[in-house]
Amino acid sequence: MSRLPQRRALVLLSGGQDSATCLAWALARYGHVETLGFDYGQRHRVELDCRQRLIDGVRALPWPGQLGPDHMLTVDVLAQLGGSAMTEDVAIAMQADGLPNTFVPGRNLLFFTLAAALAYRRGLDVLVGGMSETDYSGYPDCRDSTLKALQVALSLGVDRPLTLETPLMWRSKADTWALAQRLGGDALVELIRCESHTCYLGQRGDLHAWGHGCGGCPACELRAQGWEQWTAQRSLNGA
Ligand code: ZN
Repeated sequence: MSRLPQRRALVLLSGGQDSATCLAWALARYGHVETLGFDYGQRHRVELDCRQRLIDGVRALPWPGQLGPDHMLTVDVLAQLGGSAMTEDVAIAMQADGLPNTFVPGRNLLFFTLAAALAYRRGLDVLVGGMSETDYSGYPDCRDSTLKALQVALSLGVDRPLTLETPLMWRSKADTWALAQRLGGDALVELIRCESHTCYLGQRGDLHAWGHGCGGCPACELRAQGWEQWTAQRSLNGA
């Protein structure tokens, strides 16, 4: 992977598998990396606790880039808008428009807009997010075209060239584990497996082979499948 030591990045770090892998990707590539989290009234605060353990764990590993400060912004407005299973106590279900009700409309647009504002203040020029079109639920604000359009709008809006990087855009969950392995070896894989949080129900539960979670919600199922695929590929390759 080509290194760009002169560039300074801001990673959107939720506390999940994808954003934790993005943090490692950014530290392998850029000279200086800061992290940003959002408290948007998510029902399950466990993800926010995982963030700090991931940051501490990543900091303990050797990287070419420097890990700078972590930032936290409160975005109550998303819960105020309501209607999502992520912010309200409703069961996860499919909506009439074909999207699951875990979709929080405008969330990624808002997050990247706030990230661009913070990047402006902090002198950062790359925004990194863990969005993916490959294994996702069809969220329109995770699409490559949405984020490419947003990159143009945000760069114009702050009158600075910002790059939006989404290293997982075309990677499956299995590919994301493989990327973590390439970037930080078994230590990084183990950190992400044990400390990142994916479960939609906010359950830590037992430590399964693929990590913590309820094991039955769509997010846990996707994570378990990805882990199984990756470990099967590894054993085929004799690793
Ligand atoms: Zn779950």
